[in-house]
Amino acid sequence: MLADYHMHCKPYSPDAQDTMLDMAEGALERGMTHICVTNHVENCTQDPDFPDQFPPFEDWEALWRDFVSVKDAMGGRLDVRLGAEVGAPHYLPEEGRRIYARPELDFVIGSVHNLRKARDFYFLSYPEDFDNFRPAAEQYIDEYIELARSGMCDVLGHIGYMQKYMARQGKGFDMMIFEERLRVLFKTCVEYGVGIEVNTAAIHDTLKDFLPQPSVVRLYRECGGEIITVGSDSHRRFDAGRDVDAGYGLLRECGFKYVCLYREHRPEFVKL
Ligand SMILES: [Zn+2]
Ligand SMILES: [Zn+2]
Repeated sequence: MLADYHMHCKPYSPDAQDTMLDMAEGALERGMTHICVTNHVENCTQDPDFPDQFPPFEDWEALWRDFVSVKDAMGGRLDVRLGAEVGAPHYLPEEGRRIYARPELDFVIGSVHNLRKARDFYFLSYPEDFDNFRPAAEQYIDEYIELARSGMCDVLGHIGYMQKYMARQGKGFDMMIFEERLRVLFKTCVEYGVGIEVNTAAIHDTLKDFLPQPSVVRLYRECGGEIITVGSDSHRRFDAGRDVDAGYGLLRECGFKYVCLYREHRPEFVKL
């Protein structure tokens, strides 16, 4: 069993290069048995002062038709489910709840790509001195704490996202300097039944590591965390399913016995 629970496709994700069918075929070639297609939904992070955000997503009918045809095309070869990666749904709670309740979705990843009144971490230039970035990093973890309490997502996406872009600028930090805050976050996750994902996309980026970094995944387990998914965060066919097997290796090393699939927002535990 290999389940890639984070992937994007065109035309629904503006930064994706290949179709849903391409992504499913790519995942199958890489040995996946399950995928969940999770396109960007940035409806809750729209701000006229920050126009480089992806436009809001509303074309659920076209997405659903595409999903049904890909599911049919894959037949019994690949279990295909539909989810979404929703940017900070708690920034606009009414909309966040509306998206979470969409009948098309089995699974929602909640991801903080930008702080309130700020651009996506992808666009930032990071200071030489980490102390100048520390308050943003603390705020970032606090946003995930709020997100975990919100009831608007099933797992928290790629905790430590900015580390990927800092690495490209030759900078970085050890997320474990925020261990106490992360403990609060993970205890909140356990209390509210929210999981985390291990995102493998930065393994083949400058960072060359999982997100969250392995010591943070271990801390989640130590805090009693059991609900966890693995996703490639792929935006093109070639990356579909990439390093999901390495993610499973990390889970085993950290003491996880199960990885999760999702149906109607309920985790299904599959033995690792
Ligand atoms: Zn993301
Ligand atoms: Zn993504």
